[in-house]
Amino acid sequence: NRKLFMDRLGAVANFAKTMPSLRPTLMVIDLDRFKQVNDSVGIAVGDSILLTLARRLTRILKPQDTLARLAGDQFGLILMSEQDPARITAFAETIRKTIRAPIAFNDREIFLTASIGLALSDPQTQLSDEIIKDAELAMYHSKRIGGDRIDVYKPAMRARKTDRLTLESELRRAIEREEITILYQPIVRLEDRSIAGFEALARWDHPKLGRMSPVEFISIAEEIGLIVDLGMFVMDQTAKQLAIWQRAMRSREPIFASVNVSSRQLLRHDLIHDIRTVLSRSSVARGTLKLELTESLVMENPEHAAQMLTRIRELGTGLSLDDFGTGHSSLAYLQRFPFDTIKIDQSFVRTTSRGTRPVILKSIIALAHDLGMDVVAEGAETDSDAVELYQLGCEYAQGFAFGEPMDADAAMRLLTEERLEQAS
Ligand code: C2E
Ligand code: CA
Ligand code: CA
Repeated sequence: NRKLFMDRLGAVANFAKTMPSLRPTLMVIDLDRFKQVNDSVGIAVGDSILLTLARRLTRILKPQDTLARLAGDQFGLILMSEQDPARITAFAETIRKTIRAPIAFNDREIFLTASIGLALSDPQTQLSDEIIKDAELAMYHSKRIGGDRIDVYKPAMRARKTDRLTLESELRRAIEREEITILYQPIVRLEDRSIAGFEALARWDHPKLGRMSPVEFISIAEEIGLIVDLGMFVMDQTAKQLAIWQRAMRSREPIFASVNVSSRQLLRHDLIHDIRTVLSRSSVARGTLKLELTESLVMENPEHAAQMLTRIRELGTGLSLDDFGTGHSSLAYLQRFPFDTIKIDQSFVRTTSRGTRPVILKSIIALAHDLGMDVVAEGAETDSDAVELYQLGCEYAQGFAFGEPMDADAAMRLLTEERLEQAS
């Protein structure tokens, strides 16, 4: 199968030399933790699961696409039927969902996920069968960050093979070397589209690898225990910035800023002390510095979390429940946590392949309101997202429709512009 696939790829690469409009995309799809499945159900059943998946994948392909099994639990795909990058990533998302659909086995259901690496052909360089290595690198990248995701190959990924130990020691020095930047993404009131606040999102400007996304370095920081310092840094900087914005915009209702908190931070009792320190250094209006905690984080240890959250709340800090809907929440606990806001994960906000929004979106909004919480919808990318969310009763939204994460100066300009508009 692999040999046939490589032959096909070679042929496509040859064709592309005379037909520059031919721009295939390569995908390497590797199942996550498939060995465990094999170990628990046996190799024979494992094989039939692979067959089931192959059949499912074939069904969503067009005749001009090629799918092959490259190795044990790894598939390769030469995608010819889509050319537009947005449609290609949407297609990869369909593949991811297709794999995630449960597989019936005896009276059990097996859930599988995959790491998907994607290499687009670059019109500037000649296509060669080397492109499969790029897709593989992207796939390993997905796998490293936890699997069940799609990553597009970037040249920096080659450099990123630099060993993990180097990266760890570089990250340890990143704060003092001022390589950590904080970007702020607006959260708007849907009622009048005014800015209600910002979410602080960390970036690491690595001297050689360029700007790195938090999904790449937060997990490293967590593993090496650096997340406590990093978290404190982000919280402190954000509070200082928030105080500056509030001072400059004295006439309007004070905006808020929210900061992401990791589980390692919540487990330590020092978090209370850290928050107190931050609040004493910057004078921000009560309740306007907010912490965002994910559902899976608080459910890891709900009793402890409930206690900590209550104490945090007493300090005058707002609390948002992040990525709502992606973890396992107990509704009973939800009532006991003192959150003031629920952030609905992007996956519920986005329209499905049929162009409708998940039915559950409406119920989540109603549930949050019954619990006395405000709702922020994440990943609002278009104006129609915003309009529909407002109609569903959602108060706030965040997403590319209202601005991507930006630096503090750009955020200040946005606030100033808004004030000028209101005055005129
Ligand atoms: P999150 O808290 O869910 O943050 C929202 C992510 O969605 C951000 O990615 C943001 O850029 C992205 N996003 C915003 N609007 C849209 C949209 O309309 N469409 C799409 N497709 N995406 C949108 P980012 O900045 O890469 O952050 C990723 C995650 O990293 C965050 O997810 C958060 O969990 C974590 N993170 C970021 N900064 C920190 C930090 O300082 N500390 C900790 N512990 N985690 C952080
Ligand atoms: Ca967040
Ligand atoms: Ca989120």
